[in-house]
Amino acid sequence: MAVKDTELTYLRRCVELAAEALEAGDEPFGSVLVGADGTVLAEDHNRVASGDRTRHPEFELARWAAAHMSEPERAAATVYTSGEHCPMCAAAHAWVGLGRIVYVASSAQLAGWLDELGVGRPPVRTLPVGEVAPDVVVEGPVPELTAEIRALHRRFHGA
Ligand SMILES: [Zn+2]
Repeated sequence: MAVKDTELTYLRRCVELAAEALEAGDEPFGSVLVGADGTVLAEDHNRVASGDRTRHPEFELARWAAAHMSEPERAAATVYTSGEHCPMCAAAHAWVGLGRIVYVASSAQLAGWLDELGVGRPPVRTLPVGEVAPDVVVEGPVPELTAEIRALHRRFHGA
């Protein structure tokens, strides 16, 4: 899909956050929550290396949004992310009423890369966001940045 330059800026920040996660010994995922006026409200990267496998950035952003934003603000916000939300995060996103999602790499792409690398399947099924949260507008993948994300995942898995 083709995204606007401003959106690419947010997605590049997601790639940077994913790289920061990798540097910290964590899986390379990063996400940014952007308000209707284009302001970056919150950002995070994966923190599952702590041992808590639910510490995905999209889940953190959903809980941040629930705590700090009104219902209309959440509905008008966009979550940019390096990888498509997993089912847990897609559910959290929908439960708190957040708006659009724009991702660099799809869950199907990630699953394909992990298969290539011989990494075992996760304990939660890999489903597209639309299967979990049918009313959320989802855009991606973004080919301009997909190779960078793939390279980060290959590095994490020692390839
Ligand atoms: Zn997740």
